[in-house]
Order: sequence, then structure tokens, then C-alpha cells
Amino acid sequence: MSDLRDLYQEVIFDHYKKPRNFHAMADANHVAHGHNRLCGDKLTVYLHLEGDVIQDVSFEGNGCAISTASASLMTDALKGKKVEEAERLFEEFHHLVTHDDAEASPDLGKLEVLAGVREFPARVKCATLAWHTLQAALKDRAAPVTTE
Ligand code: ZN
Repeated sequence: MSDLRDLYQEVIFDHYKKPRNFHAMADANHVAHGHNRLCGDKLTVYLHLEGDVIQDVSFEGNGCAISTASASLMTDALKGKKVEEAERLFEEFHHLVTHDDAEASPDLGKLEVLAGVREFPARVKCATLAWHTLQAALKDRAAPVTTE
């Protein structure tokens, strides 16, 4: 078990140090800003939707290791997915990080490495910030989202 935990921490650290899809997107057609006041994480999610398919997704911002790694893993997971698949993935991810006995669905792939945050309730907001911001971008909400 501790080997698995080490591996998970390694993946999180890697995505924090070298976040994937970490840039602004010039041809984004959906954008939203997210702010987790509890921790101070701030990020912007960019989406390029064609019909109901996420052609491209990226983010930028400033946050802790968990929020940055979660956004990085999320963008990797969502490219090429349909909006309804993205929403289902968010539900599965949210369940995973808020239920002690939840098993990771195979659909989650590498996102499973964030399961450990459920032991730290304050960190759940760090892990879900990118996802809440994604949802705002999909709905094109004008006001910045907060995790409160
Ligand atoms: Zn944070």
C-alpha cells in the first residue's frame, strides 16, 4: 500500500512540476476563472468545443501542488471527450475524492492518484477546483467561481 502511495505522490509531483496543457488558448470558445479562497489557488480553464466534443482544453494559473496536478490530469483526461462524458467523469471523480470507500472507476485512469485527498477535507477543494471551473466554462458563467 505504501508503495502505491509513493507512486501516486510521484505522479502528483510530476504534474505539479511539469503541468500538461499549461497555457492560454487563443482560439478558446469557452473560458472560466476559478478561485479556491481556502488555499489561494487560482486558475483559468480554456476550452475549444466543436459541437459537443472537447477538441482542446488547457489551463493556467497559480495554485498548490494538488490543484495544479488535478488541473493537469483533468486536461489530459478530457481531450477528445464529449461534454456528457466530461460531466460523468467529474461525477466519478467527485465521488472518489469524497467517499472513503469509493473504488476508482476504470474511466478515471490516472485521476485515481488524487484519491488520497479524501483524508484531508480542505484539500478536496484544491482537487475539484479545476473541475468546478470546467463546469463554469461549459456553461459560460460570467462570474468567477469559488469553491465556497
Ligand atoms: Zn490548494
